Amino acid sequence: MVARLKVSRTVFLASCLLFMTCGKAGGGALQNAPGTILETAPASETVTTPDTASSGSLQLFDAHAHQMTATYPAGWLESLFAEHDPSGITLLGIGNVLAHQMNYPTKVFAFSYFKVNELVLNSTVVLSDLDTDLSNGTQGIGEVSIHHFSAGGNPKKEYKFDESELIDVYERAKLNGVPVTFHYDYHDYDDDQDHHDDFESELGSTLPGYIDASGNPEVNFIWAHAGDAQPDELRPLLAKFDNLHIDISSRNPLESFEGRQVYAAYTKELQRLDEEDGTIKDSWKELFTDYADRVLYGSDIGPQGRLAQYGEIQEYYRGILAQLDPEVAEKIAYKNAQSLFLDLVVKGDINNDGDVDGEDFLIWQRNDGTSEGLTNLLNNYGTVTEPLTGASQVPEPSTLSLCALAAFTLWPTRRQRV
Ligand SMILES: [Zn+2]
Ligand SMILES: [Zn+2]
Repeated sequence: MVARLKVSRTVFLASCLLFMTCGKAGGGALQNAPGTILETAPASETVTTPDTASSGSLQLFDAHAHQMTATYPAGWLESLFAEHDPSGITLLGIGNVLAHQMNYPTKVFAFSYFKVNELVLNSTVVLSDLDTDLSNGTQGIGEVSIHHFSAGGNPKKEYKFDESELIDVYERAKLNGVPVTFHYDYHDYDDDQDHHDDFESELGSTLPGYIDASGNPEVNFIWAHAGDAQPDELRPLLAKFDNLHIDISSRNPLESFEGRQVYAAYTKELQRLDEEDGTIKDSWKELFTDYADRVLYGSDIGPQGRLAQYGEIQEYYRGILAQLDPEVAEKIAYKNAQSLFLDLVVKGDINNDGDVDGEDFLIWQRNDGTSEGLTNLLNNYGTVTEPLTGASQVPEPSTLSLCALAAFTLWPTRRQRV
């Protein structure tokens, strides 16, 4: 309690100082004074510090992870944070991933998960559940398993990217300003070449509709595992669709990823990003360099054995990224994910209830404590979001209101988590 009070008092002083500065110099002043806050941030494992791109220390934001409720032990996420310290993690299902997001509001990003088979069979119910999830604060949709031959099942997952029920899902992503992570095997299991043209036309009928008149994405689509495609297959699609991203999860030779027979001729050599001696393949290096803003690291923990290999997964990707230009490596390792996910929080609405207020501040204080999170809150205090248009209003916060808010955090009583 003593330590917390000390932090709160420092935060209080910093807050008032910053807002008085803000009042004099205009809204932009806050952005220029992060150093003041940085010194006051409590030392905790959640503080994000920009690392160099050396393979041992490169910060990693895991943009593709699953919670397997049936097999993961209680406290699995806490253990993972303690042992491997990803700077952020998206949880693409399963189960109550929102509870984790509430515990770590600037570190865990909960996705709404559903089965496409069920969506197509019973869209009213699935879409209504999705609406509930999104209104409760999920920050992404996925993994939407659209075309997934190795998954089997009856019927097999061989839907089209532009099924009308899926368009309903993308519309919800747009309305809520969240990205969609989708699984779509680029190759059919029998490697039917005709299928590739279908996929491109399905993307063509969909993705350009989610870019606004100024050329900004209204929905960002993340193609899981880079579609298990090769760089020369990905390149024209990335060139054509500005709101298409890829994650590089599962593209490694580790034991728990063996047996991913996504199409008949798919070997471990085609799955991995490097040669057997660990040298990144030239074709991947060139693709990552050319599309550095649209590649994301992910672990794809979920299926058997992968959680136990989390450290090895990080080590593999750090080894790959260390062979890239440091700026490119940092984007892929964490910066792209930060701008896709943390920017939702940058609006400051940590509990996603439509405004940035004292509740968000309390959650930040209890569970986050990073200077980054505080800066976001201070910059956006008083913001009222309007999800229907995606626009937001940012009324000028008064010095008094923020100081009052900061003073409130000094109050040494325990309150129910909001
Ligand atoms: Zn997948
Ligand atoms: Zn996955």
